[in-house]
Amino acid sequence: MTDPLPTGATIGILGGGQLGRMLSVAAARLGLRTHIFEPGKDAPAGDVAHHVTTAPYEDADALTAFARSVDLVTYEFENVPTSALDTIEAIVPIHPNRRALGTSQDRMTEKTFLQELGLSVAPFADITDAASLDAAIIEIGVPAILKTRRFGYDGKGQVRLHSAQDAAAAFADMAGAPAILEGFVDFTAEISIIAARNPQGEVACYDPGMNVHRDGILHTTTVPAQIPASLRTDAVLLAARILNALEYVGVMGVELFVTPRGLIVNEIAPRVHNSGHWTQNGCAVDQFEQHIRAIAGWPLGDGSRHSDVTMENLIGADMERVPALATEAGCAIHLYGKAEIKAGRKMGHINRITG
Ligand code: AMP
Repeated sequence: MTDPLPTGATIGILGGGQLGRMLSVAAARLGLRTHIFEPGKDAPAGDVAHHVTTAPYEDADALTAFARSVDLVTYEFENVPTSALDTIEAIVPIHPNRRALGTSQDRMTEKTFLQELGLSVAPFADITDAASLDAAIIEIGVPAILKTRRFGYDGKGQVRLHSAQDAAAAFADMAGAPAILEGFVDFTAEISIIAARNPQGEVACYDPGMNVHRDGILHTTTVPAQIPASLRTDAVLLAARILNALEYVGVMGVELFVTPRGLIVNEIAPRVHNSGHWTQNGCAVDQFEQHIRAIAGWPLGDGSRHSDVTMENLIGADMERVPALATEAGCAIHLYGKAEIKAGRKMGHINRITG
């Protein structure tokens, strides 16, 4: 697809969470419509989309009708079943492509791909049974982290091993799910880089942000990241390498560990990313518009940073702080419209302009 999507065209989005919501708003700003496909009721994206289909990913008829009603399909999360993608792809293109999605869905495939690209990753081993875990602990050492190969997010599906004695309990925790053991990276900081590529092969990267996690969930992203300029360049170059290798179209989040020996890639997310929310108030064109531009075949927008920003997630009871935050100078509030406040649930975020 090289012709840009015309005004009035419709983008299908798999997943109706906050990322889908912010993608829908960005699409609307460009004169495009969105159709959300989401199994759950009261999807945050539904409030701001042209159309919503509420159906499970196993409903082939609903998927077919959805695909026929849109010009192309994108997604806001990675765990869409393969069968659903097959049904859709027989009718309309999916961006980012299936290879990017397949690579990021499985930590083993992802790490192997990154390593073959010449990038540094934590030492890793495929774990299929208790014996392979024992062997991997000898090879990789401890501390280490056992992670499910698939369906992990926000630190879920992970167990830390502090000694070889932790192996049996950690293996039991995986409940038979395929897993990998990763060597523990002694990082000085976590950063991420949000990068975009369009069908014409143009690549644009945002400034890397520094991430702080709390209880396994992203707490803040700060730009500019306090890292040497050479690492900033390394981050941009390695992100471009990943996108080009995958012939990627859209926005990708690349999470990196900063170590004394350089950058180590933790994982890639083939979608807009929580650590890129700062771009909404730090750049002329934010990551959501950039994603829509890329998949719609538009020229990529200007993602240079015009302000220093700290993004902070509003999780669960943080919502009680909103009235006070609303009085704060230089603080932009982004709420997701979720009816129910739950512990650990991402309810919104703020972007504080710091310079
Ligand atoms: P992940 O789901 O793989 O992004 O992991 C969630 C968080 O766990 C990361 O943001 C890191 O803080 C930490 N973590 C994951 N893998 C490693 C590792 N190999 N070494 C050290 N910390 C890690």
